[in-house]
Amino acid sequence: MNIHEYQAKALLRKYGVAVPEGRVAFSAQDAADAASAIGGPAWVVKSQIHAGGRGAGRFSNDPDGKGGVRVVKSVNDVRENAQKMLASVLVTKQTGPAGKEVKRLYIEEGCDIARELYLGMLVDRTTSRITIMASTEGGMEIEEVAHRTPEKILKVAIDPATGLQPFHTRQIAFGLGLSGKQVGAASKFITALYQAFVDLDASIVEVNPLVVTGSGDVMALDAKLNFDDNALYRHPDIEKLRDEDEEDPAEIEAAKHGLNYVKLDGNIGCMVNGAGLAMATMDIIKLYGGEPANFLDVGGGATQERVATAFKLILRDPKVQGILVNIFGGIMRCDVIAQGVVAAAREVDLRVPLVVRLAGTNVDAGREILRASGLTIIAAENLADAADKIVSAVAAAHH
Ligand code: GDP
Ligand code: MN
Repeated sequence: MNIHEYQAKALLRKYGVAVPEGRVAFSAQDAADAASAIGGPAWVVKSQIHAGGRGAGRFSNDPDGKGGVRVVKSVNDVRENAQKMLASVLVTKQTGPAGKEVKRLYIEEGCDIARELYLGMLVDRTTSRITIMASTEGGMEIEEVAHRTPEKILKVAIDPATGLQPFHTRQIAFGLGLSGKQVGAASKFITALYQAFVDLDASIVEVNPLVVTGSGDVMALDAKLNFDDNALYRHPDIEKLRDEDEEDPAEIEAAKHGLNYVKLDGNIGCMVNGAGLAMATMDIIKLYGGEPANFLDVGGGATQERVATAFKLILRDPKVQGILVNIFGGIMRCDVIAQGVVAAAREVDLRVPLVVRLAGTNVDAGREILRASGLTIIAAENLADAADKIVSAVAAAHH
């Protein structure tokens, strides 16, 4: 789960992570009031959307060509910029061309930036450790830095048995070229951030930029915090920060039904049981020249209703031109799945090609149900055959 920058900063502040003073605003008047309360001489008006690249982003309706993060010098300028930014659509590298409507702003005290650094933490699956990443190349996209100059990213993996130690924070501080009192400030910052990461069951925290101010302070100017969904039950207060406006409606609907659905950009809808099989199915669709429209794991105990719900979710996406159902009947029996597929296909009045690959328990009975249904369901023998058939069927339907 993702939260807004202002929410992340409020959480981090509680752990002693240094952040500038700021307030959230839902209207231009709110923004002006926030600016007056914070005090000048400069403020930053920041669009709150669940996407990065806001600074370099552009508003789709805005002729002044200014980005989603603006430094202004008077309360009146805060108000005027807020007026323009709120209810406008911000397009950044991460939002996609449709952009996202700005409904909240964060008004922050301006800060005298001497250096922009990068600091991130994530759970590294390879080492099974929280890994801290730091770079002197802050303020820009870390993916670009990783691609062009990987040597400029310092990585430190933390052994969970001993946790973060002072030598780790010094190693990072020196790696960032800090000296004097900045080393102590950075060490305090990293220690607090690590504590927040562990306590809050975060999966990623990204501070880009981490700044060194003219007076030698170290502060988070930006903060992105992602949480491990599997641990959210331990954090009801964080769950309350969920902003459904920022999430895909189909993904919210899927979560309510216990379906694991992620929308993608392709045109072949996938319904699979098991996350690993779902990943493999997406891979093989691509191998056969197609593009998956979604990831969807219906889970092990898929009932007829769940299968029908899954079908409807897939078909909500207007890009979908064909569906591939790939089910391995282990705990689930293939005949039950087949009944679910047939009922769902009838219920939703399916008009796109449907390829079904079944394997496992009661597979023959399952295939017979599909055949006897009278629906135009294309049966596949194996995964490769299924991918081949759905890619061909979609291509044939659009010639
Ligand atoms: P992002 O573009 O979505 O990552 O948003 P950021 O919060 O990182 O803001 C983009 C850029 O705005 C930062 O890299 C800074 O260079 C600049 N910026 C943000 N806050 C301030 C500030 O208080 N003062 C100044 N001068 N620049 C800021
Ligand atoms: Mn940033």
